[in-house]
Amino acid sequence: MILQESCGLDVYIDVGACVRRSVAITLFLITIAPLLAAAEFRAGAAQSVITPELNGHAVYLAGFGHNRIATGVHDDLYARCLALGIARQTLVVCSVDLIGLFYDDVLTIRRAFQQTTPAGSVLIVASTHTHAGPDTLGLYGPKPLESGIDRKYLDWVDLHIATTAADAVRAMQPARLDLARDDHPLLAMLQGVDRPPIVKDPFLYVMRLVARSTGQTIATVVNWSDHPEVLGRKNTEITADYPHWVRAYLEKQMGGTALFFSGSIGKVSPLGDQVALLDPETGKIAEDGSWRKAELFGSKIGRLAERALKSAEAVNVDSLSIRTDTVFVPMYNPNFRVAEAAGVFAGRKPFYTNGNPDPAAETRDLPELGRVKYATGHDIETEVDYVQLRSDGVPVAEIVTVPGEIYPELVNGGVARYAGADYPEAPIEPVLREQLKTKYQFIFGLGNDEIGYLIPKAEWDEKPSWLKNAAEPWYGEVNSVGPDAAVVVLRALVALISRQ
Ligand SMILES: [Zn+2]
Repeated sequence: MILQESCGLDVYIDVGACVRRSVAITLFLITIAPLLAAAEFRAGAAQSVITPELNGHAVYLAGFGHNRIATGVHDDLYARCLALGIARQTLVVCSVDLIGLFYDDVLTIRRAFQQTTPAGSVLIVASTHTHAGPDTLGLYGPKPLESGIDRKYLDWVDLHIATTAADAVRAMQPARLDLARDDHPLLAMLQGVDRPPIVKDPFLYVMRLVARSTGQTIATVVNWSDHPEVLGRKNTEITADYPHWVRAYLEKQMGGTALFFSGSIGKVSPLGDQVALLDPETGKIAEDGSWRKAELFGSKIGRLAERALKSAEAVNVDSLSIRTDTVFVPMYNPNFRVAEAAGVFAGRKPFYTNGNPDPAAETRDLPELGRVKYATGHDIETEVDYVQLRSDGVPVAEIVTVPGEIYPELVNGGVARYAGADYPEAPIEPVLREQLKTKYQFIFGLGNDEIGYLIPKAEWDEKPSWLKNAAEPWYGEVNSVGPDAAVVVLRALVALISRQ
């Protein structure tokens, strides 16, 4: 746990408290003018292309299965970063068009970032989870136990994200902030959920940073929840999927850099959406899996973000509170254990026991895989973050990072107890949005890590009979580290949120 409220150089500080104390001291030194200038809210954005080279080697596309090799680039993948600064503290949030990055990669990115950035800068990196980008997790290679990771690319992209984050810091200028949210019914209808309970997280949150000097947009941040997989599994061209068109629409309409952050996307997919999108040019319904559908889908979200901004609230942010904690999550998933032992994660998802790295493995005979190496460490390490943007000491907006794909009922409430659940008596986890304090609740899924699905323990269902007495098992558990991941993550977040 790192939480500190001081004026030291450590990164996790409450800037408001720091500034108030500084002001008192500085009055005596009669150098108040520079201090006030330094306390002004600033913002800067930067973006860079992170599309992998396709020439000369196979780029395995991540998200659907094995051996899906990229055949072209439809639209470039990006790292897009927004830096927010007050006084000596800077928060940088980066959204990257990747299936996910592990915590170890984020730590690598931070080390590189901190070499070029003043102390006190905090970096959050979240993946959009596009299903048409390179395999940065390792799970989508040529065969089940052959990694799809291209180490050279991954090392390059880590460094590139760090450079882009530093560029955003250098671009900071005095700014004002507009906050908006929207709950248009279409937002929920564009989300498909195919596992009970049918709970969604339809809310759209928008942040707009405007340069004080010119009135021009520096950045627009959009946070919404739906898997970026409109193109489906048949597509083999690299694309950021619908977030590409969200950003393109907003940049065309209002300039600046648009950033898209995926929210509570566990089990939520546009592939099962409940509304058809009519193509205004042809008068016909855009076909599932088509480029046109992805374009209409993304543009629709962009338009709703623009609509939300029309009734935006201008806030005067004068301090940031950034709280972070690392947690150890128990690893249950045997496939992930075998994958780790086989080097599928390329050493980027180490296992731990009692808080120490534990690379131990043993040979086991498993029903479906035969004789395999099996990593025996107890946990994986991950991180949760909670940020308050404050005005006069009052929080006006919040950013939460969740290190994976969280089921929406853990965010909005509605965890259900069904016949067939493996842990029918399991306590219900705390509901995330119930803990939050402001109207503007940005939840960045796949924030600083990708540990897979976060599933309520009461709904965990690996063994027959199946939830609601279904004939077939429900999809989900195979992509989760285990039934206790959600409670560990949510308890850690609640502790951060409730800290004064
Ligand atoms: Zn996913």
